[in-house]
Order: sequence, then C-alpha cells, then structure tokens
Amino acid sequence: RVPEGIAAPLPGSRVRVPFGRRRLIGVVIEQVAQSLLPEERLKSLIAVLDTVPVLAAPVLDLVRWASDYYHHPIGEVIASALPKAVRSGASLVALEEIWWLTAQGREALRAGRLARAPAQRHLLELLTRHDPIRQGILIEVLPRWRSAATPLLQQGWIAHAAVAAAAKATAEPMTGAANPAPLPTPEQAQAVATITTALGGFSTFVLHGLTGSGKTEVYLQVIQQTLAQGRRALVLVPEIGLTPQLVQRFEQRLNAPLAVLHSGLTDNERLAEWRAAASGAASIVVGTRSAVFAPVADLGVIIVDEEHDASLKQHEGGFHYSARDLALVRAQHAQIPVVLGSATPSLETLQNVASGRYQRLALPRRAGQALPPRLALVDLRAHAVTAGLATPVVLAIERHLAAEGQVLAFLNRRGYAPTLLCTACGWVAPCKDCDARMTVHQRSGRLRCHHCGADSPLPQNCPQCGFAVRPVGQGTERVEERLRELFPQAPLVRVDRDVVRGRSDMDAAMHSINSGAARILVGTQMITKGHDFQNMTLVIVLNADQGLFSTDFRAAERLAQTIVQVAGRAGRGSRAGEVLIQTAYPEHPLLQTLMSEGYDGFARAALAERAASRWPPFSRLAVVRASATSAAAALEFLTEARRLAGAPRAVKLLGPVPAAMARRAGRYHSQLLLESTDRTALHRLLGGWLPRVAELPAARPVRWALDVDPIDLF
Ligand code: ADP
Ligand code: ZN
Ligand code: ZN
Repeated sequence: RVPEGIAAPLPGSRVRVPFGRRRLIGVVIEQVAQSLLPEERLKSLIAVLDTVPVLAAPVLDLVRWASDYYHHPIGEVIASALPKAVRSGASLVALEEIWWLTAQGREALRAGRLARAPAQRHLLELLTRHDPIRQGILIEVLPRWRSAATPLLQQGWIAHAAVAAAAKATAEPMTGAANPAPLPTPEQAQAVATITTALGGFSTFVLHGLTGSGKTEVYLQVIQQTLAQGRRALVLVPEIGLTPQLVQRFEQRLNAPLAVLHSGLTDNERLAEWRAAASGAASIVVGTRSAVFAPVADLGVIIVDEEHDASLKQHEGGFHYSARDLALVRAQHAQIPVVLGSATPSLETLQNVASGRYQRLALPRRAGQALPPRLALVDLRAHAVTAGLATPVVLAIERHLAAEGQVLAFLNRRGYAPTLLCTACGWVAPCKDCDARMTVHQRSGRLRCHHCGADSPLPQNCPQCGFAVRPVGQGTERVEERLRELFPQAPLVRVDRDVVRGRSDMDAAMHSINSGAARILVGTQMITKGHDFQNMTLVIVLNADQGLFSTDFRAAERLAQTIVQVAGRAGRGSRAGEVLIQTAYPEHPLLQTLMSEGYDGFARAALAERAASRWPPFSRLAVVRASATSAAAALEFLTEARRLAGAPRAVKLLGPVPAAMARRAGRYHSQLLLESTDRTALHRLLGGWLPRVAELPAARPVRWALDVDPIDLF
C-alpha cells in the first residue's frame, strides 16, 4: 500500500518495505486497484527510493517475459538483472558532496568574527571564493578539511548536500578523432546496408563469416550509423570474447563513451558502469550475458557476437536463461534489429535461417589479403606418437618454425595428465567425491579434481600395492614440457586457467605472441576466441576425439565449432595457414563431412540427423535436475514429480535417470527430461505442474532446478 503523502512509485522503482521485523528493498512490479489479500494483511511501503525507475519499462517487460518463459520467480530474475549495489539501495546516479557557506556564515564573516584555527580560516576563505565547492576538490586543496569542517558545520556557518556527480562522459572526455574505417569489402558493404536499412523495425540477421572475415568491422559500421541516428547500441559477447583489445577497438573506432559489464568487475566498478549505461552517458554497452538486462535508453540495435557460444547461456544457480534468446525478445519488444554473428552458427540459428525467420548475411572471404587455412587429419593409429604428438605433427612444427611462422597447439584439457595409473594393479587415482579421476598437476605436485576442486598431494607410489604410479594421457602442461624438449630454441607460452588467472596474465601472453617473442602457444578453449594472431601459420588440434562419442546430442556440434574456431586462428595475416587435426578415427563421418564440406556441410548433415531423431530445433526440451546426498533421494523425488505430471498430451517425459556423471562434489545428480514438438503444450504443462512439484514433500533435502532449452544433457 502506498501511504498518504507519498506519491505512487512508478513500476520498476525501488521501495523500502517492512518485511517481518526487517526493512528490505523491493521493486514495484505494478499498481493494482484491488488486492487478493485482505486489507489488514497489506502493509504500507516506508519510502520510495527512485523517481526514475531502476528497471525502465522495456527491461521490466523483458524481466516479466523471462520469468514467465523460464518459469522462474520474478524476484530472482530481477536479482539477475540488477547489480548488487543497486539491489542494496545505491543511488541510480553517482552522488557527490558539495559544500557552501550559509547565510549565517556569511554574516559572521562580514561581522569580522573569524575562526581561530588556521585550517578553519583557510576553509572559510576557499568557500567565499568558490561557492559551492566539490568535496573532491576540498580533499585535494586542504587535506585536513574534515576536522576544520566539523566545528563550522556545528556552528551552522557551512552546509553540505549530495548532488549528482558530473557524468563519466564529461569527466573523461573522448579525445582525438575516431580511427578511420577501412574500405568495406563488397560483402561487408552489403551486410551493413541491409542491417542499417532495417534500423527502426524488428528483424533478425545472422552474420555468418569465418573468423577474420570482418564481422566486427560490420558491427562497428552498423553501430556508427545507429549512433548517428541518436540511438544506442547493446553488444553481447561470451565471457571469453570480452578482451581489452575488443573494447579498445570499439573505443578507438567509434569515439563514443562505452560502458563495459562483465563478471570480473567489483561491485563498485559494476555500479559505475551500470550508472553510465542508465544515465545515457554511455552510447554503447558491451557486456557478457547478464548485460542483456542492462539499462540502455533509446536502444537502436542489439549485437550478439559468437551467438553459438555456450557461455551466453546462464547455467549456474537457479535461473537458467539464454542471453541470445532474450536479446531477440528485447529486440522484438523494442522493434529494432538484432544481429547474431558467428563463424559457426548454432544449428538452431541455421534452422531459423532455413525456415526464413532469420536473414543470413554471409562474409565468405577473409578481409584483407588473408587466405583460408588448409585442413588435414592426422591418423593417430598410423604414426608414432610421443606425449600426444604424432610424428607428422612434430615435422610440421619444425617446418613452420624454420619458416619464421608461429605455432598454436590446442588441447581442451589442462593439467599434466588426466589419469594417474598404477601399472602393477590397475589402480587409478579417483576423486573421493565425484565419479571422476583426479588430474595430475606435475609442476605443483598435486592431484586435482576438475569437477569439485578437490586437491591432494601427488603420490609417488600406489596406495594399494606400493608399486610406482605414472601419469597417463595428456594435458596442456605435459604438451608444454614435450614441446620445450623438442624445440628448446623456440620460446613458448601456455594459456589455460592454471597459468592465466586474470586480465594482465592474458595480456602478457597475447603480447608475447603478437610481438613475436614467443613462437609456440599451447592452450585450452581460452585461446579460441577473440584474439587476432597475425603470424600464426600452423594450428594443431591435439585431440579431436573427445567429442566424437559423447552421449550429449550437442557434442558433435560443439566439436565441429571448436575445430572451425581454432582453425580460424591460422593464417590471419598475409600468409596461408595450415591446420592439422589429430584423431584416432579419421574415418568418422562427422570429421569426413567437416573436412570435405566445411561447417555448412556439417551443419546440413547434423540438422538432418536431429530432424530424424527429433532433437532440438525439431523439438523443445526442458529438464528438471535434482541432486541429493543419496542417489535414491534424487531419483525418488523426480519419480514423484513424474507421477504428478500424469500422461500429458503432446509432451513426452523421459526418465528420471542418473546424470552421466552422477556423483559430483559428494552429491548425486539425476534428471527428468520433458520433450515436445509443441512449445505451447510444453509450457502449459510446466505452468501447471511446477508449483505442485515445489510442494512435494521430500524425504531428504533435495535441490532441484528447471532448465528450459537446456544446452547440455549430461
Ligand atoms: P571477425 O570479427 O570476423 O573475426 P574482424 O572484423 O576482426 O573479423 O576483421 C579481421 C581483421 O581484418 C581485422 O584486423 C580488421 O581490422 C581487418 N579488416 C576487417 N575488414 C576490413 C576491410 N574491409 N579492409 C581491410 N581490413 C579489414
Ligand atoms: Zn597398485
Ligand atoms: Zn571431485
């Protein structure tokens, strides 16, 4: 209830409310004339915190839509949409204290009543000359101002108040002119023209181009035209793609203030960036998935880079959402175009292109003079292999290094070796809390579980029989060791989560590659995106087989995307690149199609397979995942849940079954899959069923969550 004397808050505004004995901050969703609750149970709000809503109408609409579609409580959706500082009451605009001389103070000075302490006199003098004065300046001019101000404040000679701080844009004026745009290729020009003609209405474009084909250049020119129309742009990128180089390129080319939102910011930094977006000081907001909820007024275009990337899907916590899909919803509400860019669009997106819902804009060639790389498979069964490197690969590295090229070795597994084995009794080091093996980390002398973080000393002997143990298989640490042995004269850098912990580590690694100081780069997924290597002439995919035989229906798509993305690191400059893919299954149809027909051919074959087996995008999925400290409890809960659903029309229920890795960090995971070719039927079922699942009495505490449109089924 809004008490008398308080103006009704607008929807999307924060209010302070009584909650039990506490006072909490809430967000107004809407105002209604009638309540379902009896009058006496309604409470009055205490204060309205915002005159301008923290959730502007378009964002509030998106929040509502997401809460509905993902069947998730709106409060938690709002929590994902707002920075922590804003949730706890921080002002929408940055505030700053100003100080001035009161009429009483002026009078006292005129009457010659002077303050005794020199610091007080100095302060009064400052205030007579500069009235009012910003606290930031006071601190600089008069370091001891605080002790001087306190008595004067008590006497009523001076006063202070908080006002909106000068905007970031004026605090840090953009200097110089924008970098000039290169002359676009005909395909780039076509893409820019098509998208900019569509500004002002909803449409979805798929910018499909190889890495290095100039997609970012297209984004930049589209944004430039959007800004010229007085509107703003929102750019979503995967966590891994948001590099300082990308931000710098945007800043230099567009010469416009940018707000950058990502998970590496402190609460205060995030608040500052969010304020820059909310106040309109920033004309471009670049961010990772939760930035889809960022406050951007007069939004003119949304760009989703690397739209296929799994990190655009939130998969932690209870609220699972796809930032890409929400970007489409936001664009549709706002009636603006959205651009999905990728070298390897997801199969869903390609199916939407095939059905005519999205328009594909192709950039088939590389920008500049770069040539496409040559791909070849290396049969691991036909060649001698040492520490994961087949002889033809070693020879190729030698050749490229001799020709002054650089070499990239990709292996999506960090550590020294994935297994520690006793060759006498067959013991392998297990994680005690997971259905997984411990990974050997040789240099730090530890065994680590990559699923739960368990960490223990590396044993020298088998705990079962006392025989010596040895590491089996390869991780990036071992590949590094082997390459240093083979090519001692070639400086090497490794990039994985063990050695690169923050931005500055990554910058240093990229610098040593780009300056030519390092000749070999060994890395995991961390190196596959966003980095531009001019002199990388050889790329090696050390093990393509990890994704070939997975139970996850999306594993093949992932593998093809990774191979194409890594291959795209080769030959970005003026030299043609070579890509070698090591596999023990060179005859595998996926690899064969990928080699002979490229990603497009692969996607056609994979979509045909999905259609035949009715996997997405030819059906809709939702999965309920449950975990408990016993395997039985999680399964029982889901069995009960399934029983509650009965035999719904048009929705198939599959399971419950234990997850592929059932035990993780001491908890047992199970899942129940719901599948339908009819999206409406699926959501109607979920809407009626989930509240009843939530009421289920569980014998033992069970954690569960719903994931609509899951991207992995593990
Ligand atoms: P992508 O985003 O598809 O990987 P980029 O836009 O980063 O491609 O372009 C790759 C490289 O080619 C960059 O160094 C970029 O500056 C350059 N480039 C892009 N378009 C052109 C163009 N039309 N003429 C010359 N160089 C270009
Ligand atoms: Zn043993
Ligand atoms: Zn573990």
